[in-house]
Amino acid sequence: MKTRKILLPEKELPRKWYNVQADLPTPLEPVLHPGTGQPVGPDDLAPLFPMPLIAQEVSQERFIDIPDEILEKYLIWRPTPLYRAYGLEKALDTPAKIYFKNEGVSPAGSHKPNTAIAQAYYNKISGIKRITTETGAGQWGSALAFSCALFGLECKVYMVKISYNQKPYRRMMMETWGANCVASPSTETNAGKKILSQNPDSPGSLGIAISEAIEAAVSDKTGQTRYSLGSVLNHVLMHQTVIGLECQKQMKIAGDYPDIVIGCAGGGSNFAGLALPFVRDKINGKKIDIIAVEPASCPTMTKGPFAYDFGDSVQMAPLAPMHTLGHTFVPAPIHAGGLRYHGMAPIVSQLILDGIVRPISIQQLETFKAGITFARAEGFISAPETNHAIAAAIREAVKAKEEGKKKVILFNWSGHGLVDMAAYEAYLSGKLKDHALPEAEIQRALKDIEPLPKPRQYRAGAF
Ligand SMILES: *Cc1c(COP(=O)(O)O)cnc(C)c1O
Repeated sequence: MKTRKILLPEKELPRKWYNVQADLPTPLEPVLHPGTGQPVGPDDLAPLFPMPLIAQEVSQERFIDIPDEILEKYLIWRPTPLYRAYGLEKALDTPAKIYFKNEGVSPAGSHKPNTAIAQAYYNKISGIKRITTETGAGQWGSALAFSCALFGLECKVYMVKISYNQKPYRRMMMETWGANCVASPSTETNAGKKILSQNPDSPGSLGIAISEAIEAAVSDKTGQTRYSLGSVLNHVLMHQTVIGLECQKQMKIAGDYPDIVIGCAGGGSNFAGLALPFVRDKINGKKIDIIAVEPASCPTMTKGPFAYDFGDSVQMAPLAPMHTLGHTFVPAPIHAGGLRYHGMAPIVSQLILDGIVRPISIQQLETFKAGITFARAEGFISAPETNHAIAAAIREAVKAKEEGKKKVILFNWSGHGLVDMAAYEAYLSGKLKDHALPEAEIQRALKDIEPLPKPRQYRAGAF
């Protein structure tokens, strides 16, 4: 019998995360203080994050030890299986070999606990009692709620209002794990009140929810509350490299090495988690096509400028050098809620500038079609975000057939879609549609970042 899933024994769980900052051909430009425009130092970030995470954010060490307490929790679901997608290969009649890394087996159903567990741990050992965060469709909020439960921390989640109302199940998961979840914009913070005074019917956005969560953390007088972000930041991407490091061992067992590595990208964390160890190989001379996939309706990497921008809507978060559509950009309400962020991780942005990562965008209908093909061939029902990676893998597999090439394709199956069935229902009943490029909205939002400082490598958007 042919091996279908490549499993690693528990003792093969990676003991270190990989920090790509040690190998970047162009070092990252500094993150700037939102008020002064000067590079931020540890003291500026201390009200937001515990010191060990601040140290990781700027570390230049190539490998960083994963503490035993984190490894113990990772073992609940890690190492995750790497699958050879024989069913999909057959359905596409492709000579390509397709592999996918199944990050959907975590308790929260996605890759997000890889960093949530780590962040909860470092807050815990720093004497923090409570963590605040934002969530879009609820994937990140549920991952952090799960992780806080394991470490005995309080968890407060500001959930984008439209999802809070339309997608109750992830809220229920958060509450099951003991978190407190409110709809954002809320009346609990000044940021929320400000938005509501301008627009009482605001459906909310990730940027607004981030502002609320940051305010709730820094305004807590006890000093025992910190904020947590589920993507974008350097330390988050580093925690996720456990995916790619496992995968490199598994590919070796399979006797293959990928020609093409693919991940969907919202803030960039699951893509980077799989890709960064392969980025290291590419920097060292390997030939790999490393593809980050975003929705055509939120084309941060493929259309947005590389500029300084705020991470949130109300300009409380630091200015990061990244591909961005502007912090006031509001994308169409596509079902891949986790891919509707205006910015992109600085590390992923820099790798795009350096020609190491190739960004592409795909329309919503193609992604759901791919998700259905995958479900019928492989069984697993994917998160709408993950469908973007599947659609790109299918494009590459079809191309390999046309060219008669035996390519090895590897993608990150970032999460399952079992809490997203309403989106599948909309697709199957023909109600889902593609969204035209929101050019006017992008131009409007980009005006708002024009006055901000420009990074050294500033690049205008591709319009
Ligand atoms: C949140 C999420 C994403 C997008 O976030 P990244 O930080 O870009 O990884 C992708 N897939 C799933 C399943 C998610 O939950």
